[in-house]
Amino acid sequence: MRYRKLGNTGLVVSEIGFGTIPVLSGNVPVLPDYYSPSVDEAVDIMMHAYDMGCNLYDTAIPEEYGDAEYKLGVFVHKVGRENIIISDKARAMDGNDMFREVERSVENLGTIPDIYFVHQVDEKNQDEVFGRYGAVDALCDLKKAGLIRFTGIATHYYSVAERAARDDRVDVIQTSGNILERGILDRIADNSVFAGKGIILNKVYAAGCLLNVFTPAELIGGILHWPFSCALIGIGTHSQADAAMVEYPPVNFSFDEVIGRLSERFSPIRCTRCQRCICPKGYEVHIMLRQYNYYHLGKNYWAMKKLRMNIDEVYESCRRCTDMPCMNGCPQGINIPEQTERIYELTR
Ligand code: SF4
Ligand code: SF4
Repeated sequence: MRYRKLGNTGLVVSEIGFGTIPVLSGNVPVLPDYYSPSVDEAVDIMMHAYDMGCNLYDTAIPEEYGDAEYKLGVFVHKVGRENIIISDKARAMDGNDMFREVERSVENLGTIPDIYFVHQVDEKNQDEVFGRYGAVDALCDLKKAGLIRFTGIATHYYSVAERAARDDRVDVIQTSGNILERGILDRIADNSVFAGKGIILNKVYAAGCLLNVFTPAELIGGILHWPFSCALIGIGTHSQADAAMVEYPPVNFSFDEVIGRLSERFSPIRCTRCQRCICPKGYEVHIMLRQYNYYHLGKNYWAMKKLRMNIDEVYESCRRCTDMPCMNGCPQGINIPEQTERIYELTR
């Protein structure tokens, strides 16, 4: 296992971290697949990853990750608190809510988390999160009180990640990226404002669906050149730990090569998910295009359900749109209304 600095926190983290979603039990609607191991089995899997060099374990509150937080707490006491770094999170945007969630997490873990993230910060809720008495203020107070060690923002939005990078109150940013959805990673690498922030990366396997085309060696080796600190992989079995916790050599996949491999199975949309396509009506083009690719990569039911939520409305709007400002900034030159029509046809 290789190790990297977590920004300016002083922490040194394993290049691959343990995502705990797959060890949860119960009926929590999260991705990727989970296996419902018993507490003992889950602890055993976490220990196996630890023995392979993993030192960062990422979890979330019960409403999001079921009993994974509790299982991680049991593991912590077995492995020794000083030996691992705990990254925890809650979807609480208001300061009071965040206080309550952190107190509950400390109880569930039986110890204080090292990093605590405001989870799923997006373009709609960010003003509340970053504003006065919002979740970031609360995390700063909790840090001063010694209930967490570092503050974090977890987001799938580049604009939110950049706002977090400019905010001195935020120590660590958790965001998503992989060899296909590389747009955020490229933008982070190109922007010096992220220097000094710890970057934790998730969705390296794209909720598991890129494993239908690429090997773990390719998916992990293919991200190593980007400036993240720790890449989380969801682990639910010993063999998944064996596949992830390996010092893979870097692989230099160009975007064309990735698209070429996907093209052997279907005709992918060449979207890097860089999020430069701004629609005045607020349609999230990057999410829609991603669902199309995910649909063809095995997430049929889930992707179709999401696409059907508003595709009729988006298709009609794009058909009538004359200036199409979303296309101005697209480095891939994607004809967005054409793709919208293609997705509309898929959902018929
Ligand atoms: S074509 Fe117009 S309506 Fe459609 S996403 Fe682009 S800006 Fe929005
Ligand atoms: S459509 Fe173009 S601008 Fe929008 S996320 Fe994809 S690559 Fe980026």
